[in-house]
Amino acid sequence: MKAIVVRGPFRYGMEEIPVREPGPGEVLIRIEAVGLCGTDYGILSNEMQYYKTGQAKLPIVPGHEWAGCVEKVGPGVKEFQVGDQVTGECTVRCGFCSYCQEGRPHLCENRTETGVMNRDGGYAQYITFPAASLHRVSGISMDWAALVEPAGIAMQAVKRADIKPEDNVLVIGPGPIGLLAAQIAKKICGAKCVIISGTRDERLVRAAAYTDAAVNIRKEHLKEVVLKKTGGHGIDAVVVAAGTSGVFRDCENVMAPGGRISICGFFDSAKADCNWDFISTNSIDIRGSLGSPNVWPFVISCIESGRLDVENIISHRMTLESTEDFQRAVDMMQNRTDDACKIILYPNGVKHEPKCN
Ligand SMILES: [Zn+2]
Ligand SMILES: [Zn+2]
Repeated sequence: MKAIVVRGPFRYGMEEIPVREPGPGEVLIRIEAVGLCGTDYGILSNEMQYYKTGQAKLPIVPGHEWAGCVEKVGPGVKEFQVGDQVTGECTVRCGFCSYCQEGRPHLCENRTETGVMNRDGGYAQYITFPAASLHRVSGISMDWAALVEPAGIAMQAVKRADIKPEDNVLVIGPGPIGLLAAQIAKKICGAKCVIISGTRDERLVRAAAYTDAAVNIRKEHLKEVVLKKTGGHGIDAVVVAAGTSGVFRDCENVMAPGGRISICGFFDSAKADCNWDFISTNSIDIRGSLGSPNVWPFVISCIESGRLDVENIISHRMTLESTEDFQRAVDMMQNRTDDACKIILYPNGVKHEPKCN
């Protein structure tokens, strides 16, 4: 099969590699759609945290937002059949360590992360994957099914911010995760007021349907907008979906006492300057948010029922047949050309029908 293989910093390309037969408990899936993510660039450059710490080894096939059709099931697999439409979790847990036993599989000591850490991902024609981390989806397109993963990341970040209907919420960073988090905060948590902030108008406009304000911080004064929209109260919960050093200054300017900050963005080693007195004197909770543990069935039901609109973040759909195809998509994401937001790639040809076969 054809797959994008990363062998070193900026050393990657499409290669012909063998399809691995599904072993006991595994399923072979033909990949029909895969979403390009900022994290992928960190893997291509080897700048992502896991590669710096040595937790992740090369080579790897990246791609952690994927969906496809079951082609073959391994011995002992009863839950899935050939022809099922599926998507798989990024985190593949061991199931035995103390974190797994406590229901925190995203912190599993022996975990792999699909397309990210020590497990091949979705920029390939096929993936061989454990049934225990696989989910069936139905009635939605392959593109949407591929976006269950980022929607899960956003869902977990919102959960960590403990967003309730009486809350005023600020989402910092209108990338795909931030846009999804704002949408979840408004439409699923029912938050009273949801504001998103960033620097790119073409992304902020995507949030118009589900936010009370979208603030370009280069043109507008965030604090003024927040005070006006929240009747002078300020923000109760912040979701940080951007990794820039100024985020804590924004938090300090707009947060109400007792607020929560949930961080799911990667800072790529940038040191954020933070006023710790503001944190203590206002009893602010700061929480890191990793992965999407235990949210998959709920996220899938939200997308299948239309409560969550993942089409909102898709900007481009492209084939993935060569290194050049892949590079074109990566360049587009990195150079932010053509208002790129979420780019969907098709390793087996463009396909929009929701069904397998
Ligand atoms: Zn991602
Ligand atoms: Zn474990």
